[in-house]
Amino acid sequence: DVWPACLRYLEAELPPEDVLTWLKPLQADRRDDALVLYAPNAFVRDEVHRRYLPRIRELAAHFGGADVALDIGAMRRPEAAIGAPATTRSSIVAATPAEPFRGNLDSHYTFDNFVEGRSNQLARAAAWHAAQKPGERAHNPLLLYGGTGLGKTHLMFAAGNEMRRINPAARILYLRSNEFYNAFFRALQEKTADQFKRQFQQIDALLIDDIQFFAGKDRTQEEFFHTFNALFDGRQQIILTCDRYPREVDGLEPRLKSRLGWGLSVAIDPPDFETRAQIVLSKARERGALVPDDVAQLIAKKMRSNVRELEGAINKLTAQAGLLGRPVTMEFAQETLRDLWRAQQQAISIANIQKAVADYYGLQLREMLGKKRTRSLARPRQVAMALAKELTEHSLPEIGVAFDGRDHTTVLHACRQIRHLMESDGKLHEDWDKLIRKLSE
Ligand code: ADP
Ligand code: MG
Repeated sequence: DVWPACLRYLEAELPPEDVLTWLKPLQADRRDDALVLYAPNAFVRDEVHRRYLPRIRELAAHFGGADVALDIGAMRRPEAAIGAPATTRSSIVAATPAEPFRGNLDSHYTFDNFVEGRSNQLARAAAWHAAQKPGERAHNPLLLYGGTGLGKTHLMFAAGNEMRRINPAARILYLRSNEFYNAFFRALQEKTADQFKRQFQQIDALLIDDIQFFAGKDRTQEEFFHTFNALFDGRQQIILTCDRYPREVDGLEPRLKSRLGWGLSVAIDPPDFETRAQIVLSKARERGALVPDDVAQLIAKKMRSNVRELEGAINKLTAQAGLLGRPVTMEFAQETLRDLWRAQQQAISIANIQKAVADYYGLQLREMLGKKRTRSLARPRQVAMALAKELTEHSLPEIGVAFDGRDHTTVLHACRQIRHLMESDGKLHEDWDKLIRKLSE
């Protein structure tokens, strides 16, 4: 079969995400001598056309000389092929409820395989509620915001998949913001803007990922604003993600910002240590690998900035263990991940930390390292020392030296003091998390 053979090659060549998003949703059929690939909607068809068609043609030629055509809709039913001209739908508008709308949701990401922790439990709950009662005012639009690799897209997919589990006929359209933007501009060029607009009338939920990329694109924002209003009035669920609180995104129109706040906005923060360790265990289980608790904790301790990195470490570890047929022991993990740790450590030096903390609090580096004990200087100084202990492998005396020759007991005191204060001081805790994120990026 030509298509499975092509797909095997494409899977080896492309990032798995892309394969899942664009190529897996295609259904292959034969029409005369040609290989016809049916896309679930116009967005997928156009993107496949633009990105992959040349390569697909090459591969298809290689595997059987077939010509390749792209089309929209489910596979032609055999009876339709007899006599009657093949009816191919020209957009998702024509899909009837009897034929489930196949969007480009990635079915792998669910609530079941999302690890809950303090940092993400609100976002998880919000996404879950939106999935149970799509379109309800209390969570429409639902906006999930936070740094990269913290699980926004995962939760968005989970909500979409849950909606579809509850109602298999639900029509859910997932688009990255640039896909919305590209599709809109293509529609303008091809003078099919009306059709572009109409596509949204028939869906139950629109999921748009990473709307920070709308910044500065005025016409796209304007179009999105109208789409948004139409969906909102039609009580169709809207779920959006953004890499920060939208009010902080420069170049987003004020009226759009204000609309985004109509429903529910929830932050996702970086996971704490326990959650990270749980995620490692869960991802390892998914890959069928046995990873002991101490190894999970080791990885959780070393990789703290985002979950995607944790996943990278787990991938590397399980792949190596599988290849070599070795169990995942502490020793094996240390050995296999040494390069990853090193890359991380090199990136973070005491000097980096000092500079980041001074910038963060708006201080001169010299002041912060100096002898003055005013609280506005002493606290940031302590934060910087504690971060140096947390994020580098330097000893207390070494850190003391880097802080203008202070004694190691001063550093130890700073670490304890900051830990202690963070338990009751939410602002300090937030500063700490933000600094860690900034330094780990
Ligand atoms: P974002 O969209 O915020 O950049 P993603 O949703 O793409 O992040 O998450 C990056 C990776 O981390 C994904 O593979 C996702 O499954 C995983 N991930 C993030 N948070 C969690 C979590 N709490 N439980 C399980 N996996 C997670
Ligand atoms: Mg994402």
